[in-house]
Amino acid sequence: MLGPGEYAADETQGITRVEDLPKPKLVRRSRNYKRRPCPVCHQSAYRLRTVKRTLHDLGDSLSGHPRDLVVMYSQHRCPRCNCYFNAEMDDLALPKSHYTHRVVSMAVRLVVEDGLPYRPASWHLWRDHRVFVPWATIQNWVEATGEKSRSRDKNRLHR
Ligand SMILES: [Zn+2]
Repeated sequence: MLGPGEYAADETQGITRVEDLPKPKLVRRSRNYKRRPCPVCHQSAYRLRTVKRTLHDLGDSLSGHPRDLVVMYSQHRCPRCNCYFNAEMDDLALPKSHYTHRVVSMAVRLVVEDGLPYRPASWHLWRDHRVFVPWATIQNWVEATGEKSRSRDKNRLHR
C-alpha cells in the first residue's frame, strides 16, 4: 500500500500499444421501441430497424478501466410524412457525438473553470477519468459553449 502523498506513476505510462491499455467496461443502454411518435407530425411510427451506438463515458477511476455505453436504439419511419428518425437519447449525448454529456461537461469545466490548456486537459481526462478525448475535440467543445454563452450575452443586451 502507498501512504498518503506517495507518488504512484500512472499505470498506463509507457504503454505504446493500444491493445495493452485497460479494456473498457461495457454498459448496455436501451432506447429500443416498437413505436415512437413522429417528431414532425406526431403520427405513431413503427420501428424500421434496431442499431447500435457506442458512447465513451467517464471511466472507473478505481479499477482504472474506461467505460463505454452501448446503446441499442430504434430507427423509425413515419407512415404519414415519410420522415426517418431515431429514438430520442438526448439525455445521454448530442446527436453524432461519440461521448456522453458527462464527458463533454467535465472537459469544458477543466478548461473554462480550472484554466487547463487543451493538451493537459486531454491528459487529465485520461489519467483521472480513463476517457481518451483528442485535445482538438475538447477545443471544439469549449468553442461551442463559448459561442452559446456569447449568443446568450447578445440576447441579454437586446432584451
Ligand atoms: Zn410524420
